[in-house]
Amino acid sequence: MSRPVVTRFAPSPTGYLHLGHAYSALFAQARARDSGGRFLLRLEDIDPGRCRPEYETAIYEDLVWLGLSWETPVRRQSEHLADYARALERLNDAGLLYPCFCSRSDIAASTTAPHGPDGPIYPGTCRRLDPGVRQERLARGDSHVVRLDMARAVSRTGALCWHDTARGPQTARPEQFGDVVLARRDVATSYHLAVTLDDHLQGVSLVTRGEDLFEASHVHRLLQALLDLDTPDYHHHPLLYGPDGKRFAKRDRSLTLRALREAGHPPETVRKMAGLLT
Ligand code: GLU
Repeated sequence: MSRPVVTRFAPSPTGYLHLGHAYSALFAQARARDSGGRFLLRLEDIDPGRCRPEYETAIYEDLVWLGLSWETPVRRQSEHLADYARALERLNDAGLLYPCFCSRSDIAASTTAPHGPDGPIYPGTCRRLDPGVRQERLARGDSHVVRLDMARAVSRTGALCWHDTARGPQTARPEQFGDVVLARRDVATSYHLAVTLDDHLQGVSLVTRGEDLFEASHVHRLLQALLDLDTPDYHHHPLLYGPDGKRFAKRDRSLTLRALREAGHPPETVRKMAGLLT
């Protein structure tokens, strides 16, 4: 038997869970259980515009119905903004961050660079902003995000590796994202920062998630090095596709766990449909 691992399922309460989530949650729980380890739940509720309390309640109900149990307390990201603020401060003190005042349309209009995994690669306009103008705009309270100076960050850490238990050893390639956003306009953190810090703080030793997030792990590995965080192993599992050949998404109402339950399917059927009978 492998060493005991700590895994987690980290949904965002922005819609009802669907079959793809069931697969991901069951996968994470099975890896913890089979190794004699621990399974945690985290609610990634940093998006104030899209997260709703009823979706959070539904996540608990749906997971219990599926037969899952997890350790308490559940970590809700919205309750830990001070942790993210401290991490940002540390990166800022190291001279690795800058405020970016560009709108999405400014970026779309100014960039001819290729798209990275998160969208168009930021052309670095505000990285080159005159320091006086930057201070003036900050003092005026102009709306902005906070970006990581990727080139400087990468030169600080040097080459980094991480391990995907499905795909094998990886050399980190965070540069493909360009200057990623680490704090959004509406909340002073971002997916990349919050997820990396939380996996460390919760002692997660095996991050399991869909392969759509494979590239994100390159950025997370960089943040671990910059913030002296532990580096877990990763396993990016295949995504489930619906009968129409498309990935399950929250907008597909018919295959939410809620809809399947209401249609009279027992949890065993849903576990089978998700491809895992555990
Ligand atoms: N909160 C993310 C989602 O719902 C998952 C993040 C992760 O597993 O790293 O897609």
